[in-house]
Parts: sequence; C-alpha cells; structure tokens
Amino acid sequence: MTDKKTFILSIDSGCWEYLDPLLEQGRLPNLSRLIESGTRGVLESTMPPVTPVAFSSFITGLNPGKHGIFDWSVQVNREGEFQSASAVSRRGTPFWTYLNRKGVRVGLVNIPIPYPPEPLDGFMIVGITVPKSSRNLTYPAAILDEIEARYGPYHVDVPINLLHEEGIEAYTSAWCAHEDRQTEIAFDLIDRYDVQVLALNYVGLDRLNHFASEFGYIEQVLENVDRNVGRFVERFPDANFMIMSDHGSRRLKGAFLLGKWLAQHGFLSHGDKSLRIPRYEINFVLSQLLGDHYGLTGLGEKALRRLLGVLFWLVPPALAEPVWRALARRAPEAFAYRFTDRIDFPATKAYVRSNSGSIILNLNHRGQRNSAAAPEYEQVRRTLVDGLSQVRDPFSGGPVFRKIYLREEIYHGDAVELAPDLIADHYDSTCDLIVDNDPQYYFFVNRLNRFGDHKRDGLFVFAGPDFARLGGDGHRASIMDVPATLLHLYGVPIPDVMDGQVATDFLSADFMRQHPVEVQLPEEDGYHPQRDYTEDEMEQLSEHLKDLGYL
Ligand SMILES: [Zn+2]
Repeated sequence: MTDKKTFILSIDSGCWEYLDPLLEQGRLPNLSRLIESGTRGVLESTMPPVTPVAFSSFITGLNPGKHGIFDWSVQVNREGEFQSASAVSRRGTPFWTYLNRKGVRVGLVNIPIPYPPEPLDGFMIVGITVPKSSRNLTYPAAILDEIEARYGPYHVDVPINLLHEEGIEAYTSAWCAHEDRQTEIAFDLIDRYDVQVLALNYVGLDRLNHFASEFGYIEQVLENVDRNVGRFVERFPDANFMIMSDHGSRRLKGAFLLGKWLAQHGFLSHGDKSLRIPRYEINFVLSQLLGDHYGLTGLGEKALRRLLGVLFWLVPPALAEPVWRALARRAPEAFAYRFTDRIDFPATKAYVRSNSGSIILNLNHRGQRNSAAAPEYEQVRRTLVDGLSQVRDPFSGGPVFRKIYLREEIYHGDAVELAPDLIADHYDSTCDLIVDNDPQYYFFVNRLNRFGDHKRDGLFVFAGPDFARLGGDGHRASIMDVPATLLHLYGVPIPDVMDGQVATDFLSADFMRQHPVEVQLPEEDGYHPQRDYTEDEMEQLSEHLKDLGYL
C-alpha cells in the first residue's frame, strides 16, 4: 500500500474576495507558496451553499438530489417530518468507505455532518451539528477522553455565549486557539493511526464572517489558518494538499424578511403570533439589548443581565410577554430570529423553515409535503418565482434573488421528492434572509447582528507531487469533484453514481499518464446508518442552530 499522504484542509467560508488582498500584502505566506507550486481556482458549492448541504456533497460526491440533505433540517419522509441534518438522514457512501476498501486509512477532524460518529479504518472527530450534551464525538470513542486529558474539555464549536459575554475579541482569540489545538490533535492522531488521508475543517472564518462587524477579525482568523497550513506543509513536505472551502462568503448590509413577504402576499398565514422565548435565548436577547442598544458594558451589564434573566425566567409567560413586546418595539434588532410563529397550515400555501432560501409548498394544507401532485403546483411556483424575482435590494439596487430555482432544475436523483419546492438564490445580494420577524416591520431591516453570510463561489488550491502547476487563471471545479479526485489519487475507480468528476486538468501530466480514470459499474451501495436521535438530542440540535442564527 502506498504511503502517500493527502491533506484536505477546508477553510469553511473561504473565498478569494477575502484572501486575495491578504495574499497581495504577503500576510498568507504558506497559502501563497502552495498556490505558486500548484493550481488555484474557484470551487463551486451546492445550492443552497450552506454547510450541511455542501459537506454532504463533499463527503459523498453526490448532488443533493441524491444525498437528500437540502438544508439545515431535512424532510425525512413524504409525510413531511423534519429532522436536523445529520449522517442519519444522509444517503450515499462516504469517500472514506471507498478508500478504506482499498486499504487507505482516513482521519477526519471537525468535518460537519458525520454525527453520530461511525466505525472506519482510521479515526473521526465529528464537526457540527452535534447535540450539546453529547459525548459521542469520536471514533474510536476513547479518543475524546485522551484529548480532554491532554488539552481540557473539547467542544466542537467555540461556545457562542463567549461572543455575547466577552465580546468579539475574546471570541476571535478563542477560535484561533481552538484551531491551533485541532491542528495539534490532528498531528497526534495522524501518527498514531497512521492515516494516509486526513480531512480537517477550520470553521473560525465562517463564525467571524457571520458575527464580526469589522473585517480585521476575519483577517486575524485567516492569518491563523495560514499558520496552521504552514505547520502541515512543514511537517509533511512531500504530501498532496487540497485546500478547499465548503462555500464562499459575502458581507451583508441588511436582511430581507422572506417569511413576512410570503405572509403579505397571501402565501403564508400565521396563527397567534407568540413571543415564547426559551431560557437559553433570554441571555442572547438581553445581551443585545443591554449592550448594543443601551450601550452598557463590563461587569454592570453582566450583573444586570443575570438579574433580568432570572426575573424573566421566573415571571409567568402572561406577564413576561407584554414586557418583551414593548422591548421588541424599542429594539427590534435584539429580537432577530426570536419570534416563534405558529403557522396556520390550513391557510398556508408556502412557508420557509430556515434562512437558506428553501421554500416549501403546502398545497395539501396539512402542514405536510408532497405538494407536487396538487393541480395548482406549477401555477403557485410560477407566481412565487415571478413575485420574488421583482424584489429589489434597497442597499445595492440590484435584485435580492439572482434566480429562484425550481428544484428539478438543480437536483436530480431519488431524494428530489424530499427537496424544497423552490430554492431562492439570494447569495449574491447584500441581504441576509430572515425566516420571520414581527409583522409590523417592512420587508427590509438592518442586518440584525449578522454581518456576513455565504456565497456560492468558494476556493480551492491543489498542490503537491500529483498535482499540476498551473497557477491561477480562471480555473473552476465543483465541490463534488474533490472526493472524486481524492479517490483517483489512490487508484479507486470512480463510482458511476458519483456526480463529481476527477479534476484531471489539475493533476500532473505524469500522474494522469500513469493513472487513467476508471469508473466503477454498477454501484454497490446501500449506506444507511440506523440511528435515531432521542427527542432531547433533537431539541439540543435545533437550539444550537438557532443560536447560530440559521433557523
Ligand atoms: Zn460552511
């Protein structure tokens, strides 16, 4: 078996718009050297370009119509039941299974959506999303205890509370420290498990892009990623490197209230508008309110927030609600995402569940899916496409939605019937999408403490002995091509079912001469790990996604 090593280092949310100015200033020397010795280009993400969808395509080489992950939560059956996206609901065979069959050992550090962890020849430390209390984070299970014995408590994510309580600087430093530690953990496990392939996802940039108002913090995490890339190159100078991103990034100026637009255009009907704020959110709202709105800081703010938090938690909902409403009128930005709606399903034709742009039709009026058979399906979709196409971004003057896709335009495969009916692509606008907000506000609001979001175009840099030295002019690849190319590097025939293709243009002429691409027919598949979340775990998963502003 070959000893050749390949490192897939993912910069979550990485894009050339962010990296290029730093490269020009010489502030990313290690990435710069890799680019010079290899090939750089744009890596096209999935639509929508959100982490679970994109990483599922990275893991399987399949388009979402085959792997079945279309958003942060996924419909798991035709009856319209939804669950948080996880390995449980993902279809398709992960790339490490193909590599393992060929005797190639694989390590995964912080790759999103493989939760719950599962046996493989190598090791796995799961990435988001994970139930908060779960200790089931690694395979083999003993790795977690070993990591904690050496480095202290291990969290998949830097806790978002740190941002609310200590501020953006502490949050940024914590991310840098977290990623340094993940790099060290990777080095340790690469040796111990003697893996040939390692994939690691650095998430700090994604978080800072969402939550930092100033670009300097983004630069700080990028410089830190560059240092960690440098540590890999120094340690493994003869390895192949595949630097990639799951999607790109853009900065925001405002937010478009998609849920409200649907309501005002007669597609969506709400029952009682309620303001039930769970305990974990009270702290968030109060910190926005006291800090950003009233400008309080330091210990005084902390003490007042704790006190108010306890009071709000203690008073009965009937009494607390009028207070929240009054506060919401004064400081709507503190309450972004914090309104809980009851959708009146019998009176609703279309609704949204996340800020990804996925629109779900409800033409059987049961709050369930399977609307495609309804006679008015095409007409409702057409009306929605026409209406949303006309929405203009007041901050840029351009359209908010570059295109509103019918699901069959972008997906193909067995899972398409579980896909959202329309996918509204706002990823080139300066607007975030908000599922809902108080109906008294118009469709556009300020950016609501999210300062950046995703973009479809991300980046890749391929360098090392097996890759071509083409530099960087106009090259493009799809995120689904990364696993296909990886399999080819290790002589694994490409499964016919895979939508991704071997990036033959970016492999060295020598390598391609010696290794023509082989395709495997027919596909021997059937990967469906059986494991269900407990209700408690499911709740923790959605809480976590709400904390991050995705739901
Ligand atoms: Zn991501």
